[in-house]
Amino acid sequence: MKLKQTLVALGATGIILSCATNPFTGKKTMALVPNSQLFPTAFQEYDKFLSDHKVVKGTSDAAMIKRVGERIAVAAERWLNANGHEGYLKDYKWEYNLVDDKTVNAWCMPGGKIVFYTGILPIAAGETGVAAIMGHEVAHALANHGQQRMSAGLVQQGLAVAGNVAIKDEKSRNAFNQYYGVGSQVGVMLPFSRAHETEADKIGLYLMAIAGYNPDEAAELWKRMKANSGGQAPPEILSTHPSNDTRIANLQALAPQAKAEAKKFGITSFRK
Ligand SMILES: [Zn+2]
Repeated sequence: MKLKQTLVALGATGIILSCATNPFTGKKTMALVPNSQLFPTAFQEYDKFLSDHKVVKGTSDAAMIKRVGERIAVAAERWLNANGHEGYLKDYKWEYNLVDDKTVNAWCMPGGKIVFYTGILPIAAGETGVAAIMGHEVAHALANHGQQRMSAGLVQQGLAVAGNVAIKDEKSRNAFNQYYGVGSQVGVMLPFSRAHETEADKIGLYLMAIAGYNPDEAAELWKRMKANSGGQAPPEILSTHPSNDTRIANLQALAPQAKAEAKKFGITSFRK
């Protein structure tokens, strides 16, 4: 009994020690796997994913994904630096790839590894729509939403007794794939929570505006997502607990704030 209590106490202490502060919300969040372990794993899994899928190269669409991604990354860096978080992105190795696949999806893995599927391009309907999606996915990564989900899952599976996890352990590698939905597990990634979706929408809107894309267009994108979903099982990007209507209304309400934020960085008009 004593031993069990000690273990529980150790676990609790470890979990507190393993919290990270989300720079966008100031909230403490659970981060059982340090980025120093998470990023190399993510980079490996990303490369594996790319070698297992058909990466589109040399087309105007592929170039657009890269261009928007670079602008969103610059916007994130400017925003973080301006808000006292210099160095937050130092271990990021940004990469933006378009994959030939009908799936309506896009994601960003820890450390800035991004994939867009060609299936989402008709709904994006142009560069500003791509920027809205890119901002949203990058926001999940910057806010460590996947990390939090994975940490909670590891605790649930009893893999985090000491409050920390070595990701080289096979079970935690499996958990990584489960919670980030890469490799063979694509498409079964667990949905983000309502709170995480709302957070990613807001951060994403700021990022797209600072990158010079009109934040009014984010709500228009989600109207198209809604029209496209047609009652079928939604992919991650649509796995919204907030109803599409709530989300659209939120994005419309937040767009003026995003424009005000962009103005601080000298952005007063948006790309056509
Ligand atoms: Zn999301």
